[in-house]
Amino acid sequence: MRNKLQLRLRKTILFFGLLLLYVIAALVWWFISLEKQNKKMYHSGLQQLNMIVNKSATPSLYDKELNKLQEEYHRNQVKYAGEGIVFLGLIIVGAAVMFRSLRRQIIMQQQQQNFMMAVTHELKTPIAIAKLNLETLLKHKLDEQKQTKLLTMTLDETKRLNFLTNNILISSQLEDSRHTVTKEELDFSDLLKAKVAEFTNRINDRQFICEIEEDTDINADPLLLEILVNNLIENAVKYSDKNSRITVRLQKKDVSIILQVIDEGQGIPDSEKKKIFSKFYRIGDEATRTQKGTGLGLYLCKLIADDHSADISVSDNIPKGSIFAVNFKA
Ligand code: ADP
Repeated sequence: MRNKLQLRLRKTILFFGLLLLYVIAALVWWFISLEKQNKKMYHSGLQQLNMIVNKSATPSLYDKELNKLQEEYHRNQVKYAGEGIVFLGLIIVGAAVMFRSLRRQIIMQQQQQNFMMAVTHELKTPIAIAKLNLETLLKHKLDEQKQTKLLTMTLDETKRLNFLTNNILISSQLEDSRHTVTKEELDFSDLLKAKVAEFTNRINDRQFICEIEEDTDINADPLLLEILVNNLIENAVKYSDKNSRITVRLQKKDVSIILQVIDEGQGIPDSEKKKIFSKFYRIGDEATRTQKGTGLGLYLCKLIADDHSADISVSDNIPKGSIFAVNFKA
């Protein structure tokens, strides 16, 4: 997929390069032919001058007329060169603007295609698992323990579906202001503890550490806050190794409430730290990426943070991993 994108970009660069070369060649040719014409006019003017004015009889008149001719010749030269440079400058700027927007469009198109593929895959998998589990429950008389296991698995898959559809729906609603943000006073500490408990139950190979300051009240939309927390913890799980620790920290500092989700995973290079909050953006190569995803999670987190006048950022965790921080200003 990445190769396809590179090929299209290369073709675009080649097309613009050739177009620019052609325009520059046409401009040079245009300048040369105008210069030739200018010279011709100068020489015919000189011939006329030699015929009309006698150089030895009236040298001062002759010099004056010759000066005029030469001045006109130089003025024309400067005019043609000036026009050529302005024209070339405009063409280069225009081509650069067009190239940038075309490049952005190609990348966006590619990201949208990747997103569609990822969504299709992410929707199909939980549906297939849930279908299989329910069919098994219907067909076979299983003991209670096995039934509970299958039902819990099915419930987990429907939660995944719910998470994904929520991400898609809410981000499109927030984008065009269709989601009415309903803020209320709520206990962020309780919401966060409940979320961590949910993850601890679901994911056994991770150690979740809670550093949550009690009674941290916040004025926020509960659904959006839950989606934000869900996405950050889900990413921490997705992008770090099994058995590594994930710390969820909530602190009150002066007039701010700071949420941090800290993992000990692969970390994020400095050059990618801003880009990951863009829509559909995913680090790395589509062909070699191992983690499933849509590139919507952090974009949605940023939209939610903006709606709560909060800042979201990522920094390095020492010695390993990332710290995602959301700073809510009271
Ligand atoms: P995705 O569905 O791909 O996870 P996100 O918008 O949530 O989309 O994240 C964008 C990209 O940022 C991810 O593809 C991943 O490369 C990177 N990323 C997000 N969270 C982390 C993390 N905790 N550690 C390392 N990389 C991360």
